[in-house]
Amino acid sequence: MKTHNFSAGPAVLPQIAIENTAKAILDLNGIGLSLIEISHRSKDFEAVINEAFALMKELLDIPEGYHILFLGGGASTQFATVPMNFLKTKAAYLETGVWAKKAIKEAKGFGNTVVVASSADKNFTYIPKGYEIPKDADYFHITTNNTIYGTEIRYDMDSPVPLIADMSSDFLSRPTDVSKYVLIYGGAQKNIGPAGATFVIIKDDFMNKIADRHIPTMFKYSTHTAEGSMFNTPPVMPIFTIKETLKWLKSLGGLKTMEKINIEKASILYDAIDSSKVFTGTAEKDSRSLMNICFVMKPEYAEKEEAFLTFAKSKGMSGIKGHRSVGGFRASTYNALPKESVQALIDCMKEFERSL
Ligand SMILES: *Cc1c(COP(=O)(O)O)cnc(C)c1O
Repeated sequence: MKTHNFSAGPAVLPQIAIENTAKAILDLNGIGLSLIEISHRSKDFEAVINEAFALMKELLDIPEGYHILFLGGGASTQFATVPMNFLKTKAAYLETGVWAKKAIKEAKGFGNTVVVASSADKNFTYIPKGYEIPKDADYFHITTNNTIYGTEIRYDMDSPVPLIADMSSDFLSRPTDVSKYVLIYGGAQKNIGPAGATFVIIKDDFMNKIADRHIPTMFKYSTHTAEGSMFNTPPVMPIFTIKETLKWLKSLGGLKTMEKINIEKASILYDAIDSSKVFTGTAEKDSRSLMNICFVMKPEYAEKEEAFLTFAKSKGMSGIKGHRSVGGFRASTYNALPKESVQALIDCMKEFERSL
């Protein structure tokens, strides 16, 4: 029986990316050495990271004047690095979930941090609208996809101040107008690669206007952009897998095609939830994510939750238990999750429903 991987992260990756990584770990390009036992400054690895940069630039159509980085530390380190570098007088944040709250907490340690709007009043089941971004803020920080709650900002907003986005869980799920952002970051392990690499896309002229405080060398973006993301040893193995994932994305037809597939996958699952007598979605419809689809049992079936998890497991569904702060179920439908897996989950939900 096939196992369908709905894990929220680390998560499903293209089979071809995993296979090619496995081969490179055994022998990179037939050089008789492993990807993970050669210098990051060797020609063979330089070709890997340069191809990853080039593919990302091509897929996202990144304009001139931006740098791409692959760093360590995860998105969680960026929560602090962003305000450390750029919070001078005031930072503005949109509070849309636990990850946004963690970013806000770090910013507060560096200065005046304004939460322009929050959806905490309804357990983050929607994306706030109609808020005002202070014109004198150094930057405005958003979380484009709220992995835990299944809500998403699925467009590139206009902001009166420099826009910074944590795109950990929807990066490369759709075409993105990078020119609207001064900084995009995230952990690779949700949608583009294995754990261990953090991607950053940063606009040069924003990067150079740093706050007047001591910033340790490793936490300055310019340290890394000046060295092509090789100031210190980068996460070589994850970067290889990212490169393979980017190649796979390109072979599919790029981000427009990927978005179309993601919409198809999410629509059939949301339709199944909306037409079910047993299940119901948790996020407000106009805020729904294409990447993390959260649903629960309707109150009258609440005691069937464990039974459904057991049944789904017996049908090969993995990783569908919801986050503890939402409960119920969460199906993560990242880029590499095949439509057949979504269909298998729908069939499993229907079969369970019929058995009640
Ligand atoms: C998972 C996640 C993070 C944390 O990422 P780490 O790489 O584990 O630090 C941050 N933001 C969002 C939106 C996430 O989904």
